[in-house]
Amino acid sequence: MQKKYALVTGASRGIGKAIAVKLASDLHYNILLNYNSNDNAALETQVLIKAEGVDCELLKFDVSNPDQSKETLEIWEKNNPESHLEVIVNNAGITKDGLFLWMKPEDWNSVINTSLNGFFHVTQPLLKNMLTRRYGRIINIVSLSGLKGNAGQVNYSAAKGALIAATKALAQEIGKRKVTVNAVAPGFITSDMSAEFDEKELKKHIPLNRFGEAEEVGDLVVFLASKKASYITGEVISINGGLYS
Ligand code: NAP
Repeated sequence: MQKKYALVTGASRGIGKAIAVKLASDLHYNILLNYNSNDNAALETQVLIKAEGVDCELLKFDVSNPDQSKETLEIWEKNNPESHLEVIVNNAGITKDGLFLWMKPEDWNSVINTSLNGFFHVTQPLLKNMLTRRYGRIINIVSLSGLKGNAGQVNYSAAKGALIAATKALAQEIGKRKVTVNAVAPGFITSDMSAEFDEKELKKHIPLNRFGEAEEVGDLVVFLASKKASYITGEVISINGGLYS
């Protein structure tokens, strides 16, 4: 029997975890759970997803590594000819904040390699089968920083801004094959990435007066991944409590 899968990168923790759990619970997708290093967190998330009655396979690889990404994904597709990957959520991303004047080349390169190039490394090897089957959803998790730019995050803003442009361009290339490509741009969301931020101070600038929850981003991604979003492509949808729109 054919099994339908959704791949979520960086899904061991935070926003990716919430997205993966909701794709399982709300759309009944089997999940390919990618992560980089945190085995315990990935195993815990796998248990949560399996409790929804779907399959969840752990695919540990570094999205910034082109060969590792391509090889792992191609081997999975080869070993699972009866399985269809319908949804790709490019969520894995990192920050290495600092003022541009003193930014080290390694901090520039690691952010670009993970938060931008990871999209290329993961999506390209999987795209051919999606196009052949004439159905698919590609959802890129970007950021408010990629829309407005953020001081102290020139590397991250560049990566997310480029990913927004890539989303729009790819949507135009492959729309005829009924594969949609959209981006979700969160503002401040409670997770390990935002743990150091001063919520009390920052929320003064957020009209809804709080950080968002990973589950709220998950709900938006589930909508875009569903059949209900069939006529939306090339869009960037903000989820930021009114901070910027
Ligand atoms: P997080 O809590 O730091 O979690 C990051 C996840 O990405 C973890 O599962 C981590 O795996 C994985 N990861 C990191 N580098 C990876 C790599 N090279 N290859 C594969 N997996 C990798 O981050 P988050 O807050 O959930 O953020 C998720 C996405 O939302 C990111 O793209 C981020 O830029 C974006 N975003 C977040 C916020 C926010 O306020 N939190 C706002 C806007 C946008 P391990 O567990 O193995 O380390």
